[in-house]
Amino acid sequence: MQIHGRLYGRLYGRLFGRRRFLGGGGRLAAGMAVGVVGAALIGCGSDEPKAGATSTPAATTTAGASATAPASVTASPTPAVVRASVDLLVIVDKQRALPDGYVPPGLQPIPAAWHAEGESGQQLRGDVIEALRPMIAAAAADGVSLRVESAYRSYSEQARTFAYWVSVMGEAQARRESAVPGHSEHQLGATVDFSDASNGWQLLESFAVSPSGKWLAANAYRFGFAMSYPPGGEAITGYIYEPWHFRYIGVAAAQEWQASGKTLVEYLEAVKKR
Ligand SMILES: [Zn+2]
Repeated sequence: MQIHGRLYGRLYGRLFGRRRFLGGGGRLAAGMAVGVVGAALIGCGSDEPKAGATSTPAATTTAGASATAPASVTASPTPAVVRASVDLLVIVDKQRALPDGYVPPGLQPIPAAWHAEGESGQQLRGDVIEALRPMIAAAAADGVSLRVESAYRSYSEQARTFAYWVSVMGEAQARRESAVPGHSEHQLGATVDFSDASNGWQLLESFAVSPSGKWLAANAYRFGFAMSYPPGGEAITGYIYEPWHFRYIGVAAAQEWQASGKTLVEYLEAVKKR
């Protein structure tokens, strides 16, 4: 049994005092093995420990990068250039980090009403908030209430998380089960984890058959959002199926991506080669 992002967030809150504690009865699936949390968390944007990750490339490809200074594939000499070099189509995965210390432009709080139950204070790029607005409205018109579980995660938040797992299981194992800071799509400020009341607000694969999950899978691309980690894509993406995790890449790109039939990372690699 895997423990997913929602629970993770609460454990994280317990550890770091940023999010609320575990609780709210009924949210946790029966039999969920809290006792093995260190080995049972999933990726979701690559900053949460993941079960069964021993054969993923993260353990080797991130070798040499410290927890505070991840490899940068788009390294530039000045912060201004670094910022300008990172756009909505940059590849961020277990092999490729964002530039050291990257902070997305125009971060803003999302409207309070968009938060999932128990959540608050989530941030996204302003342009992504504006892109999300018509999507939430369109879903609502279809009777679907899209809610944001998690959005921007800073480098420092990822670093603290990773450092915690290093302290729990040692660096070698932490690198196998957790991702190195700087490798999360959530650091882009353009990525959203949605959750759904009918699914107990949990980031579980069952989100895929919730009203939100079904609506997003069918419609998100029309509003510029792509599902980063589709079913069966782990060998390519490095992540198990995450039907809740959507990244904004712009409407034109998302429509092209959808038509391509490729995973998002494959599509972005093709774009980069043009
Ligand atoms: Zn995510």
